[in-house]
Parts: sequence; C-alpha cells; structure tokens
Amino acid sequence: MKTIIYWFRNDLRLEDNLGFAQACSDADYLLPVVIHDPQTTCLTAWGFERVGHHRQQFLNDAIKDLKSQLQQAGSALCVFHGKPAQIFLELANKLGDIVVYCQQIEAPEEKAQIKEIQDSGILVKDFWQSSMLDPADLPFALDCMPDVFTTFRQRIEAAKLKYAMPIGVPKQIPRLPTGMRDVALADAEPLNTTAVYFEGGESKARQHIEQYFERRLPDTYKQTRNQLMGKDYSSKFSPWLALGCCSARSIAHRLASYEQQHGANDGTYWLWFELLWRDYFEFLPFKYGARLFYAKGLSDKPISPTNPRLFNQWASGQTPDAFINAGMTELSQTGFLSNRMRQIVASYWIYDMGGDWRAGAAWFESQLIDYDVYSNQGNWLYIAGRGTDPRGGRPFNVAKQAREHDPNETYRKKWLE
Ligand SMILES: Cc1cc2nc3c(=O)[nH]c(=O)nc-3n(C[C@H](O)[C@H](O)[C@H](O)COP(=O)(O)OP(=O)(O)OC[C@H]3O[C@@H](n4cnc5c(N)ncnc54)[C@H](O)[C@@H]3O)c2cc1C
Repeated sequence: MKTIIYWFRNDLRLEDNLGFAQACSDADYLLPVVIHDPQTTCLTAWGFERVGHHRQQFLNDAIKDLKSQLQQAGSALCVFHGKPAQIFLELANKLGDIVVYCQQIEAPEEKAQIKEIQDSGILVKDFWQSSMLDPADLPFALDCMPDVFTTFRQRIEAAKLKYAMPIGVPKQIPRLPTGMRDVALADAEPLNTTAVYFEGGESKARQHIEQYFERRLPDTYKQTRNQLMGKDYSSKFSPWLALGCCSARSIAHRLASYEQQHGANDGTYWLWFELLWRDYFEFLPFKYGARLFYAKGLSDKPISPTNPRLFNQWASGQTPDAFINAGMTELSQTGFLSNRMRQIVASYWIYDMGGDWRAGAAWFESQLIDYDVYSNQGNWLYIAGRGTDPRGGRPFNVAKQAREHDPNETYRKKWLE
C-alpha cells in the first residue's frame, strides 16, 4: 500500500495541478498538507516581517478555500507549522513509508527545503507546473535560453507555442491514511478574511478570471495596462497566480477560447505577451541558478550600503517626492501596486535614493499579495541593471512619469489626503 503526502506549496489548487493529479493516481492513501515554515515568516535582514499582514491574509484565504474544496471532495488538509523535513520525518514515524509529492520551485531556499527532506531519507518527487509553457516544448534547452526577452519571445512565436494544455480536477482523491482524519479535519488556526482588494483561493480565482473575460476587459487591456487606479486597468490575475490558486496554462487556455469567440486583438495578444514575461522570469533560474540571488546579481557593479533612515522614508512613503509617497502608501495599505508604479518606486529607491536593491525587493516580498520569487527577483534585477537587460538598468524620470501618468494628481490625492 503506497502512502503519499501531497505538499501544497505555491500551487494551492486542485485544477490543472500535475503533481496533485499524479499523487491521486499513484497513491493508495493520500495526505494533503500545507506547511508554514518559520524560515519564511521570520524577520528580514532589514528588520521587518517577511510576510506582511496583507500577504498573510491572502494566503490564509487561499488555504481556507483549498481546505474546503478538499473536504467537499471527501479528503482534507493538514496545516503544519515547522521545518518541512522535520514534519515529514514525524509523519514517516507515524505512517511508515511515505513519498512526498510537490511542486518544483527553482529558487535557492525552496531547493534547500527539498534537499533537507531528501537528506533525511525521505523520497521526494517534484513537478514543474507553474509556467504557461511546458519547458519540454521550448525550441531551446533551458540552460541555453536567450538572455534577451525579445529574442526569447520571437523564438517561441516562430515555434508557434502558445501554452501547454491544462488538465482537470482529479476525479477521485484517495482516502486519508488511517489515524490522520481527525488531524486533517481540525482547524489548525482561525483563518479570518478581511482582504482589502482581493480574496485568496481557487474559487475566488475562478470567479475573478471569468468576470474579467465576460466583461470583455481583454479588448481594452493594451490601452489601460499602464494606468494606476481602479480594478480593471489590468487583469489583476497576479495574486492568484502567485499562490497557484489558478494556473498560467488555464488562463492562457481561457484567453485562447476568448479569441476564438470574439476574435484576437491587440489586447489579447498583449495579455499573452505579459504572461510570457512571467514565464521568462520563471525559466531564467534554470540557466543562472543561485547567481540570480547574489547581491550583485549577474553584474559586477558594487552594492550600495542601505541607510536605514532613507529606507524607512521610502518604505513608509515619506520621501521628498509626493508621487513616490502615494505609491508606497498604496502598497502598504492594500498589498498591491500597478506595474507602472512598481517600476517607478523601485527605480527611485535604487537610482534617486542610492539604496540597496535587495532591501527594496525584500520590502516588496513582505508587502505584495502577489509576491512571487521569480517575478519579484527578476524585475528588481532588471531595473537595477543586474539581470539580463541589454540596456544595463532602467532608471525612470519620476517627474516625467508623474506628468504622464498622474497629470491631475488624482492618484497622489487619493493616497495622500
Ligand atoms: C519591481 C517589480 C517587482 C515585481 N514583483 C512582482 C511579484 O512579486 N509578483 C508578480 O506576480 N509580479 C511582479 N511584478 C510584475 C508586475 O508588476 C505584476 O505581475 C503585475 O503588475 C500584476 O498585475 P496584473 O495581474 O494586473 O498584471 P497584468 O498587466 O494584467 O498582466 C497579466 C499577467 O502577466 C504577468 N506579468 C505582467 N507583467 C509582468 C512582469 N513585468 N513580470 C512578470 N510577469 C508579469 C503577471 O502574471 C500578470 O498577472 C513586479 C514588477 C516590478 C517592476
């Protein structure tokens, strides 16, 4: 009899979850688990929480939703706090031989978690399932992928790749191991939901994606995507994508069916184009590995020491620049920021305040409900000129950006008055 533990990481969904589907077909007994590792919830080197309250809230919502979906399907979810290796050892002591199935995450801390579990003698099978494209379909080997995004995109377009086909929810979930039913059904902690902008979870992701397409918002996406205010200027898929409450493949599949029904246009193409950026950042670690996480990134540029006083000014929205302050206030009050404002405030921190890009990236990690290791690291490196950008950095002229994107100061008034 085979007992599998399915460890949900950033794939908090049942639909189009390759690892979970495989676990369902391989197991006689299946225990679904989520683990809060204290390493990911401690303080950063800059002294603030790694997971701020908006992000924690969104995660709680997503776990609550997953738990209820598993229960409806006759299974359950165990929520543990501790080091994954330690927890799996304890489960192995209780349940006998176990195999852990989970999502593959190509980032140093997440890889170290897997190594520690394997070193303790437990078998792990991990599954790559977070990108829109299947790495096996790409017209190049991942360790030789083009550095420049435009070349990457052109090679994919020439090969006519759009997305890998999503799979459904498993028809049947194997029963829980004997003795685990009560543990799995107990509520480990009260999970409250008072989200400001969005609520986490696969059900909410489905609703949000569906209303976005039903209201035909893809048609105007290209014109509105650089705006700063409101719910509809961009898709807002990112919070659910970050925790894997939906897969990039299912969004791409929904987009393709939308194009069949209503016709392709600039907006639908641009949405796909942005999802391709996401894949690009997901694939880069296969080429550069831990180097993407070095202080200097891929460059030789020296690191500026962080002045804590300036950092606090930036993070709390008390710089001499009102436009920056509005952005940083929106971020801390809601856990979200438009792509345009992310670029502007990141550039200001690096180039106008002379700060260490890693402190800025860590603040985003703490605050953003859509925090994603690949996209956050990739975009910060890009702006700092420490990644693969051929232009060697993206300093923004903040005054010019404010004139273009907030000509009547509506955004500044909203967040500062
Ligand atoms: C400094 C900085 C840090 C960032 N950190 C994150 C992060 O932690 N998590 C995150 O998901 N995105 C991050 N981004 C990328 C981008 O800002 C967000 O994905 C986007 O704003 C999310 O809003 P949306 O879903 O409405 O995007 P849309 O404009 O509707 O785009 C659709 C989807 O395409 C993808 N996408 C769009 N732009 C980018 C991009 N530049 N890089 C990668 N994927 C992209 C996202 O999955 C997004 O949901 C960061 C950007 C910058 C400049």
